[in-house]
Order: sequence, then C-alpha cells, then structure tokens
Amino acid sequence: MSNPVIRFDEKEGHPIYISQRELRLRYEMPVGEIYPFFKGLEEGKVLASKCEVCGQLYFPPQGACPKCREQKMGWVDLSGEVELLAFTQIFVRPQSFSAEQPYFVGVAMCKQGVNILARIANVDDPKKIRVGMRLKLRAERTSNGVPIYLLEL
Ligand SMILES: [Zn+2]
Repeated sequence: MSNPVIRFDEKEGHPIYISQRELRLRYEMPVGEIYPFFKGLEEGKVLASKCEVCGQLYFPPQGACPKCREQKMGWVDLSGEVELLAFTQIFVRPQSFSAEQPYFVGVAMCKQGVNILARIANVDDPKKIRVGMRLKLRAERTSNGVPIYLLEL
C-alpha cells in the first residue's frame, strides 16, 4: 500500500484518508516503593518484597502489605533454584514477540515459598521440561539492555 491513500467507504462512498506508519511506544511508570525490585534486577537479583510486620512475602513485589496495610517492606533475593509447578508453550505470540519462535512460560515455586511466573529460556522442546524439575531463576538483560527475570534449565 502506498502511503498516504484515499479509499472510499463501502457503505456511503465517503472518501477516507489513510496514513499508515510504525508506532513506537515508550512507557514511563512511576515505581515508587518497589524501586528496589528494579534496582535489584539491574544488579542481577530477583527480589520479592517482604512485610517486616507480618512476614508475608510478595511477588510481584508490593510496596505495602495488603494483609496488614503496613508499608515497612524488606527485600528477599529469590534468585537461584526453583521448582517448576506448571508450564505451557506460547504459539500465538503478542505482536512484540511475533518475530520469535514459540516459547515456554512457567510457574515455579521458590524455596522462600512464593510462586513466580516467568518465561523459560533456552528450551525449544517440551520433552526437555517436566513439572517438578529444578530450574534456575535469574536476572538478565535483553539484547537492547532491558533488565528482565527468567527461568532456565
Ligand atoms: Zn504484613
């Protein structure tokens, strides 16, 4: 399609101007009390928040405890060995992952007692993973430098 284009509305025959171009999005999200989580990822750690009053652990991290409504949160490093509880292979990928091969995501239990949902890296065959196996949870950077967390064999 050349750009721009005029086409005519099928119902009424009204001319419609069409301009098509790539859209690049930039998200800016205030992270407030969970800033330590993002700082931890940049330093290679996957941190959960832990209420210093009742001891409840949260992942994704919470800035305040929904249970006792306190804002005294500490941070616990979840990185390391985890147990795979469930997994699936994603064939219908979101637009931003459309250039990639089908990939796996899993839910894993950390030894600290909290579950984590993350992509399972370095797996291309479902026969290589099974529920109950040990995986590693770790922080990494994408090829364009964005800190992420992932599961891997
Ligand atoms: Zn609490």
